[in-house]
Formats: sequence, C-alpha cells, structure tokens
Amino acid sequence: MERVNPDFSEKIKKYGAFDISACYNCGNCTAICPLSTEDNSFPRKMVRATVLGLENKIASSLDPWLCYYCGECSDTCPRDADPGGLMMALRRYQIRKFSVGRISDLFYQGFSSFWAWFVLTLLGVLGIFFFKNNPDMKEIKPLSFVSLNVLHDGGIILFVFLLVVSFLQLLLMLKSIKLTKKDGIGIKAYLNSFLEVFFNEVLSQNKFSKCENKKRYTAHLLLLWGFIGLFLATITVMLFDFFFPANEGIRIIPKVLGLISGIPSLYGVSFFLWYRLKKADKYFRFSHHTDWIFIILIFFAILSGYLLDILRWSSAVKIYYFTFAFHLIVVFELILTFPFTKFAHVMYRPFALLLADIKK
Ligand code: SF4
Ligand code: SF4
Repeated sequence: MERVNPDFSEKIKKYGAFDISACYNCGNCTAICPLSTEDNSFPRKMVRATVLGLENKIASSLDPWLCYYCGECSDTCPRDADPGGLMMALRRYQIRKFSVGRISDLFYQGFSSFWAWFVLTLLGVLGIFFFKNNPDMKEIKPLSFVSLNVLHDGGIILFVFLLVVSFLQLLLMLKSIKLTKKDGIGIKAYLNSFLEVFFNEVLSQNKFSKCENKKRYTAHLLLLWGFIGLFLATITVMLFDFFFPANEGIRIIPKVLGLISGIPSLYGVSFFLWYRLKKADKYFRFSHHTDWIFIILIFFAILSGYLLDILRWSSAVKIYYFTFAFHLIVVFELILTFPFTKFAHVMYRPFALLLADIKK
C-alpha cells in the first residue's frame, strides 16, 4: 500500500514549489504540455501525487527529469499553482533523495550549505598552500604555480571518486524506478535507447526545442555543447600528459578546443545568470540557492580560465597567480560537488530519458 505523507506539499515548497495545493485538477496543464500523452497525463500526475502526499510514487518517477520547464503549463494554470515550478522542485528533491550517504543534504539546506561551501573553499586554499610550487613572483611561468604531478594525480583521484559516486547514485535511481522484466531490459534495449537518447535528446535536446521560448533553448544548447568541448579538452590534456609528457607542441590541440568551447559556454551561463538576476521572465521568478551557486561557479570557472590566458601575456605576475589560485579553487569545488548539487542534472536527466525510452 502507498504510504502517504500529508506534509509533502508543504515540504516541497522548500525546494521552490509555489502553492500546488491550490490545484483543482482542471487539466489545463496536461492539455498544453508537449510531453503529455494518452497514457501519461503530464504534469498533472505529479501534481496529484504531490497534493495527495504520495512521496514514494514521486521518488520513483522519471517525470521530473523529462520536463524542461518551458513554463507553458504554469502560464495556463487558472489557479496559479505553477505546475512547471513544481517539476523543477521535484528534481531538486530527487537529487537529495538519490544522494549517496545523503551528502546532498549538506548542499540543499541553507545553514549546512554555507558551512559545506566554506569548508570546501578552505580545503582548496590549504591545498594550494601545501602544494604550491614556490612560484617566482617576478616572472610568470605558466603551470608552475601548482606542480603538474599534483594536478595530474589529484585529477585522477577526483575522477575515480566521481565515477564511483555517480555510478552508485544512478544505481539508486534505477532501483527506485523499479524496471520490470516486462520493460524488456537487455543489452540490446539499452543500446538502442542509448543511441536514441544520446543523439535525439542529449546532443540536440529535441524535447526542449518544443518549448515556445527559443532563447532559453538556444542558451541551454550552447552551454551544453561548450561544456562537452571543455570536458573533451580536459580529458585530452590528461591523456597527453600521460602518453606524451615531453611533447609541449601537442598541447595546442586541447588549448584551442578549450578556448573555442569557452565561448558558447560563457554565452549560455551569462544568459542564465542575467535572466535569474533580472528575474527577466516568470520562469526565473524563483531561484533556489543551489541554482545560484552552480551558475556562479560555472561563470567564474570559465571567466577566470580566459583571464589566465590573457594575463599569461602580461607582466601582472601577482594578479596572474591570484587568478590561477582562484581558478583552481572554483574548478575543484565545481567538480568535487558534481554528484550532489544541481550539476548532477547532467547525469540524471540523460539517464532518466534513457530509462523512460526503455520503458516506452
Ligand atoms: S514546464 Fe513545460 S514540459 Fe514541463 S510540465 Fe510544464 S508544460 Fe510540460
Ligand atoms: S492547470 Fe493548474 S489547476 Fe489545472 S490541473 Fe494543472 S495545476 Fe491543477
């Protein structure tokens, strides 16, 4: 029997839901939502589950991850219950729910969040202090600030940690979704769905493109492509360091890729930062503190990366090293917290789309 949590519609307000109990089940949101089908009344099913407090049903649903918050349902809701905002709040709720050891709790509660970021920043500063490579403050020697070996080994440890934690969290998601044998899970089903989701949803974001607001779609797409480029540039650097440590010239490839990929990323992240700051349209009327921290970290990671490239050609040595330290700390925080913060949507959404495709 389904367990009922009568306080759930109140609880979900902390994650940014508006007043979902105002819903009187008219069905306008389902009629307008491009994701709604005959057998899935989207997003009304989640609205009803929230109003009724069916917490387990919500925790085991993929629906929150299929929604791109185009906001059309919220526009047509006669009760101003903001069903689109509810879907966004449910995504935040699920990020906490699937987190290994409930680590996400640290980042989703105001007070503990402050301390978690404070401690991480402190760790970053101490890390730089202990591993700094006695830079010559009179002359810029790129990458001499922290030893290349430390960056390389630290990067690998971080990468393995993230891989293990992300894998465990995706398993938790899979377990809560409860695919059955009827859903036809086999290697072939996974492979077919993987290709479909990867090309049609991840790379081209087809579902998002159905939203009327094309500006958000374009900014999100550019941010994603830019990020993929930056990720590939980082992996390439690590591989080159490993296989061709003495070949300096070859590093121009990831360098150029990184410089080019930073442009769409910077455009995308600036768009979201500006719209959230201005509350430029109603879809940005509520920003959870996790939205702010995520977007600010990305913005500063990219900006300080570009600044480093400019400063490298100047004589402002101290500013160069300060920017270098700042860049390392921001990137460290962003990457280390990947599975526990809003950044985790990068893995949950494609995985949910994959599972939904298999179920379909
Ligand atoms: S925000 Fe858009 S995609 Fe999400 S439930 Fe509402 S209408 Fe559907
Ligand atoms: S449009 Fe609003 S009132 Fe109507 S079912 Fe959807 S959330 Fe409820």
